[in-house]
Amino acid sequence: MRLVSFWKNERVVAGVRMGAEIADLSALPDLPPEMAALLALGTDAIAAKLPAAPHIPLDGVRFAPVVPRPGKVICIGLNYAQHAQEGGFSNLPDYPTVFMRSATSLCGQADPLLLPAVSSQLDYEGELAVVIGRRTHGATESEALAAVAGYSCFNDGSVRDYQRRSSQWTMGKNFDSTGGFGPELVTAGELPPGGCGLRITTRVNGAIMQDANTAEMIFSVPRLIALLSEVMTLEPGDVIATGTPSGVGFARNPPVWLKAGDRCEVEIEGIGTLRNSVVAA
Ligand code: MG
Repeated sequence: MRLVSFWKNERVVAGVRMGAEIADLSALPDLPPEMAALLALGTDAIAAKLPAAPHIPLDGVRFAPVVPRPGKVICIGLNYAQHAQEGGFSNLPDYPTVFMRSATSLCGQADPLLLPAVSSQLDYEGELAVVIGRRTHGATESEALAAVAGYSCFNDGSVRDYQRRSSQWTMGKNFDSTGGFGPELVTAGELPPGGCGLRITTRVNGAIMQDANTAEMIFSVPRLIALLSEVMTLEPGDVIATGTPSGVGFARNPPVWLKAGDRCEVEIEGIGTLRNSVVAA
C-alpha cells in the first residue's frame, strides 16, 4: 500500500495512491483524516476500509509531506562510511550522531526547496526515511521492525554554513521548506526487512550525485530503532531519516550548491522518486 498526504479544501488529508488515482481516505467517516492517527490504527485496518474510499485523479493533486506534522523527525548523521570520510570523520562511530528537524522544515513532493536569502550553501542529502506505526519504547533489535509502518524518501536539505556555525547542526538543518519528504509511504511488508538492500540515488538536474545502497548503513534500521527507543518513546508518525551516503555537494571539489531553478530528485528502489525544485526564498 502506498499512502500519501495531500491538500484538500485547505487542509491536509490522507489517501492511498492506486495507479493514476488516489483513494481518498478522508471521505470515510470512520477513519481519522490525518496520517499519524491513521498509522496508529495499523495499515491492516486502513486496507480493510480502502474499498469504500472514493477515488480522485492523481493529476493536479498537491502533495504534503507524507507525514505532515510528525511528532519527531529524528535524523541520523554520518551513517554511511564514505560520507563520514568525505565530511572529515575518519573513524567509524560506535554510536550514531542524532539531531532533530522540525515540521516547519519539511516540504512535500513538488513543493519548492527554499534557498534561504541569508545563505548560498543549500545542499542535498538523499536518505531513506522510516515512519513509525506503533508506540515503542525499549525495543530490542529483533523487536524493532514491528514498530515500522513503512518507508519513504527524504532529502535532508542542509544549509552548510549555518550547520557549521556551532557544534550543534540544528540551525543548518531547520530552514523552512528545506527537507523534502515523500511522495509516498510504502508499507513495510512490500519492502525488504528494514528497507535494507535498496539502491538510493540523488540527482540534480538529471545528473547522478549520490548512488549507494541502503545495505551500506553503519547503523541498520533495527539497530537505530533499538538505540533511539532506549532513550525516547517512538510514536506513530515519528520519522527517522537514516543518514545520507557520499556525494553531497559540500564535499565536492569545487563544492556544488543548489541554485534557484535546480531540480533535485531522491530515488529509492521500490519506494519512488521525491522531486523538488529549488526556489529562492
Ligand atoms: Mg542527513
